[in-house]
Amino acid sequence: MNSNVRNFIDKRTLTDKQSVVVGTGKSGLAAARLLDVLGARVRVVDRSEDVTENVLGPLKGKVELVTGPHQKEHFADADIIVFSPGVPVKKLAPVLEGIPAQKMVSELEFASWFIEAPILAITGTNGKTTTTTLVSEIFEHAGIRAFTGGNIGTPLCEYVLDVEPAEVIVLEVSSFQLQNCHSFKPHVGLFLNFAANHLDYHEDMREYLDAKLKLFSRMTGEDTALLHESLRPVIEENFGERGFTNAHVEWFDATDRFEAPNLPGEHNRSNVEAAWQAVSRFGVTKEQAAEAIRRFTPLVHRIEPVAEIDGVLYVDDSKATTLDAVIAAVKSFDRPVRLLMGGVWKGGDVAAFAQAVKDSVVHVGLFGGSRNVLEGPLGEVFTVTWDETLELAVKRQAGLAGNSDVVLLSPATSSFDQYENYGQRGDDFKRVVGMLG
Ligand code: ADP
Repeated sequence: MNSNVRNFIDKRTLTDKQSVVVGTGKSGLAAARLLDVLGARVRVVDRSEDVTENVLGPLKGKVELVTGPHQKEHFADADIIVFSPGVPVKKLAPVLEGIPAQKMVSELEFASWFIEAPILAITGTNGKTTTTTLVSEIFEHAGIRAFTGGNIGTPLCEYVLDVEPAEVIVLEVSSFQLQNCHSFKPHVGLFLNFAANHLDYHEDMREYLDAKLKLFSRMTGEDTALLHESLRPVIEENFGERGFTNAHVEWFDATDRFEAPNLPGEHNRSNVEAAWQAVSRFGVTKEQAAEAIRRFTPLVHRIEPVAEIDGVLYVDDSKATTLDAVIAAVKSFDRPVRLLMGGVWKGGDVAAFAQAVKDSVVHVGLFGGSRNVLEGPLGEVFTVTWDETLELAVKRQAGLAGNSDVVLLSPATSSFDQYENYGQRGDDFKRVVGMLG
């Protein structure tokens, strides 16, 4: 046990309390470990029948494991329920009926009870990982000891247990995690942008916006809320005079303040500005930030150039799972774009999307799922083809592409129809491009 836990253990004792952790991913298991250290009785539940005791590692024999469809009795005796980040809590409503909301927390909130360092939390529909990573590199360059985690990398409970306290905690936070936060309060909250996403889960945009704005709801006048300028009308319309936070609010937008040779496009200028606005609250100088931003290299599967073959540039933007991310990618090029799209649909206005990219896109090559959603509205504006697989679609574009075209995989969807995740989809794209050369 390190000093994070030692400092708090008396205040937050859960000795002999019944806890339930939902999900056996690494965040769920880290939460189970923390609960165990705090003296709670731990039950870990996972609706997958395939999960076995082996997943518990060092907790094997110490905690109870329940697998298979969730049932009321697995939750009814709980003093505290901790959700892993990916758990669609709303879908558990029937088994959680009657349990007070205060007993249910996200893994992130639970861990935050044991943290004293200031927290910088980053949310938004697109650009979270890029901005979080950039922020983390700026801190490193400035010699400030930051822990980076949350949605990416190390779960926050694992930090609490295993890592010596950092000076700043940088967290990427998703709307799923925010839905079950009651007392989570960052010192600086950054909201990058807001677009249609997860509408397969959230009832409507308002519910999705409410989840995101929870980030700011507990902040006080000593905290800072940084939001992208484009959010101002949406927020004013929905919250009016009443406001959405007690924090000091500032709005940011893309600027040319920094040179960022490896971060193309207007959207990245906005991410860079957001990162700067955030780190400047922690004593980072402009010179320190500028150097880290200049050196920053793009993350894989995010507008990542793969190869230039016979004058045609192939770009992997497999991480683009919303139409807004695709717009941002298309607009990063001043060359004709052959766009590869398809997969599992998550929502958005396809006709408006077509108008937004119509001057840059010369052909849309659909592959795999969502043909029924995309082909009609895109066919009104572009030449559209469909292939069963990404491989066939890439080869088709390679055959059609003229000198100076960009073949851009920016699918606007989740990958689960044909791949395990976006990374595997991007790697498959690279494999096919590798065969073209
Ligand atoms: P997240 O973690 O929010 O999914 P990433 O940094 O992984 O964000 O980027 C996801 C996708 O969104 C990539 O395709 C990227 O090019 C695109 N993107 C990044 N920043 C923005 C932004 N500010 N606006 C729109 N799209 C963006």
